[in-house]
This record gives sequence, C-alpha cells and structure tokens, in this order.
Amino acid sequence: VDGLDDAMVLEAGVTLAQAHEEAAKVGRRFTVGVASEGSCTIGGLISTNAGGTAVLRYGMMREQVLGLEAVLPNGEIWNGLKRLRKDNTGYDLKQMLIGAEGTLGVVTAAALKLHPLLASRAVAIVGLGSPEDAIQLLARAKDETGGAVEAFELMGRLGFELTIRNVPGLRDPLSSVHPWYVLIEIASGEPGVAEAALERLLAGALERGLISDAAVAQTDTQIKAFWHIREGHSAGQKPEGAAWKHDVSVPVSKIPVFIDRANSAIEAAYPGTRIVAFGHVGDGNVHYDVIRPLGGDDDAHDALRSEGAKIVHDITAHLGGSISAEHGLGAMKTAEALTYKDPVEVAALRAIRHALDPQRIMNPRVLF
Ligand SMILES: Cc1cc2nc3c(=O)[nH]c(=O)nc-3n(C[C@H](O)[C@H](O)[C@H](O)COP(=O)(O)OP(=O)(O)OC[C@H]3O[C@@H](n4cnc5c(N)ncnc54)[C@H](O)[C@@H]3O)c2cc1C
Repeated sequence: VDGLDDAMVLEAGVTLAQAHEEAAKVGRRFTVGVASEGSCTIGGLISTNAGGTAVLRYGMMREQVLGLEAVLPNGEIWNGLKRLRKDNTGYDLKQMLIGAEGTLGVVTAAALKLHPLLASRAVAIVGLGSPEDAIQLLARAKDETGGAVEAFELMGRLGFELTIRNVPGLRDPLSSVHPWYVLIEIASGEPGVAEAALERLLAGALERGLISDAAVAQTDTQIKAFWHIREGHSAGQKPEGAAWKHDVSVPVSKIPVFIDRANSAIEAAYPGTRIVAFGHVGDGNVHYDVIRPLGGDDDAHDALRSEGAKIVHDITAHLGGSISAEHGLGAMKTAEALTYKDPVEVAALRAIRHALDPQRIMNPRVLF
C-alpha cells in the first residue's frame, strides 16, 4: 500500500473488507463499498465490475483499477500490474478483463486507486413526495456542495416499511409517513464542512417545499442505523414471498418516468403485486422488485418472472437504459441481454472472446 502513489497492490483473493483495512493503515481509503464486503474478493469485484453506494462520486470498480495481473485462457501470465494513471498506449487489456465475468482470464492480482480519508460525513434521511422531487434534490445537492455528494439512495414507501418491519433493530427516523425517501450522504476532507453543507441544503429544500421532513444522523451509531435501513431492503422483502428482481439503469433524469411507466404496466398486468423500487439513484440505478400479491403463491409468481422482466426491460431499453446496471449477466441474463444489445457490438465482443479463448474453456455458460 503506497500513500505517495495513492495505490495498493493486492492478490485476487483478498476480501473487500481486508482491502479497506489495509488502505486505512496508511491513511487512505478504497472507495468501492458493497454489503458483501466480508466475503467478496478483489478478483470477483473486478470480474463483475461491482458498483455499490459511492459510484456517484468515484465510479464503479472499472474506474478504480490501475493495473492487473491475469492468467489468459492460453495459460500465459500477463503481468500488467502497473500503477500508472496515464498510459495511453493503445487498447486497454485490463478494461476488457474488468466485468468479463471470468471469460477472458483469471485475475490473480490488481493495482487499485486510493483516495484521501474523509474528515467529515453527514447523513440524513428525508421524506419527499415523488421521484421527480428526489431528482431535483440531487441536482441541488451536487450544485450546492461542489460535488461532495457521497451517496444518494432513493427508497419507496413500501420497501422502507417492509425493511423497518422485518429487519430487527430498525425504526423509522421520521415521525410521519411519506411516499418516497432519500438517504443522502455528504462527505468532505475538511472537518465540519459536510455537516454545514447538509444543513444548508436541507433548510433550503424544506423552504422550497422540495422535501417534507428530514432527520439528520447525530452520531456514528445513527449514521450506521440510517444506512442499515437502505442496506436492509433485500432482507426486508424476503419474508414477503417470491419476488422478481430487476437491476436496471436509465439516465438520471429519466428515473421518474421509468418508475411511473413500469408501475403502470406491472400493476395493470399483475394486479395485487407489490412493487419495491429503490437504489443508487444518484447514478441512475434502480432496483425494481416485484413481490407476489399478499397471500399469493410463490411458484405461480415465479412462473411469470420472464414475462414480467420483459415488460420492465422493454421500458428500460426504450428510455436508453441497461437491463443490468451492476449485477452483470451471468448465465441467467445473457440470452435476454442479447436481444437488447446492438448486434454490431455483440459481433465485436464475440470476436474478442474467440481470439483470446478459441476453445471457450473460460466460464463457457456466461456472456456472449
Ligand atoms: C449481500 C450482497 C450485496 C451486494 N451488493 C452489491 C452492490 O451494492 N453493488 C454491486 O455492484 N454488487 C453487489 N453485490 C454483488 C457483488 O459485487 C459481487 O457479489 C462480488 O463483487 C463478487 O465477488 P465474489 O468474490 O463473491 O465473486 P464470485 O461471486 O465468486 O464470482 C463472481 C464472478 O466473477 C468470476 N470471478 C471471481 N473471481 C475471479 C477471478 N479471480 N478471476 C476471474 N474471474 C473471477 C466468477 O467466475 C463469477 O463469474 C452484492 C452481493 C451480495 C451477496
């Protein structure tokens, strides 16, 4: 770990939690954070191009990788563990391996970017009337804090309620009920700056009627509790029965229209289903889950999964979005992705794969 180069070199089996610990030892920070940090590895994070909650400010895994070492499908070891920020020498092989889901080689080590530690963090949960208001709040937050928005997570009322009800130890930080919620985190390298910026932002938004209420975390324990509500959204849905999960992205400005169109179409086609829309809205990512009707049958709901996905994904594609924002394609979504991707692009991607792995021995069931 090198604080002068702002870089660390790790073997692929290091867990994300270990990477965070090692960076902190030299007063630096690795900015990718996902809920599976105790088990997921650097090799897996690179091969899935993981995202997480701070993509808005720092980008996905793809933007954190300075160099890679990998075993290519022909058995040769590629030593590309450079720690350069500028290396403009033609095709970028490491970028092809990132997000390749193991199809172009086995990643064995990586050089990753580090950032300075933060000196102040301020987190609030706000209640508001609509996704439109949330997008307006995001724009104001970016403008007013000079780009210091660390995270901006939207949560619909149903998901919020199920999480508070079903995940032990959580409670609603606001005294009244709202149709939509945002968890916003502002962070700065200077002490006190984040707290002051968040306070100013929320006061202005309340005055303009953009938000209805806000609770600002006063302690680190409260910050964790607020984040727990957001991160508990998957666990909060589990006891409610089978759910179709979609991980889509659209341009940020199109999020309200996406949610509106998808809700209308799903409610019309499958009355009684319960929609939980939430996610990293600051970077256009919506986790759009459809839970079976109350008292409904899990198997019957599961049987309709592909049909429902087509409705949601057609709307996404029509808005210029992606049917997999951060979860990759794996074996499950590949065929469907092929129907939405440009055929010229797919042909080029297949040619790259064939050139590196003519016998298709690497993860043969996934990708193109
Ligand atoms: C609770 C939970 C929360 C999550 N939250 C998020 C989130 O917020 N954002 C997000 O983007 N993702 C999220 N994820 C997904 C997460 O990004 C992936 O689970 C993780 O990055 C994969 O790492 P892994 O080591 O578990 O890889 P695995 O699951 O073991 O592998 C994933 C894929 O990468 C390939 N692979 C693994 N290691 C290598 C290697 N060394 N070389 C080549 N290919 C390899 C595998 O073949 C497989 O195709 C979450 C997952 C969980 C379980």
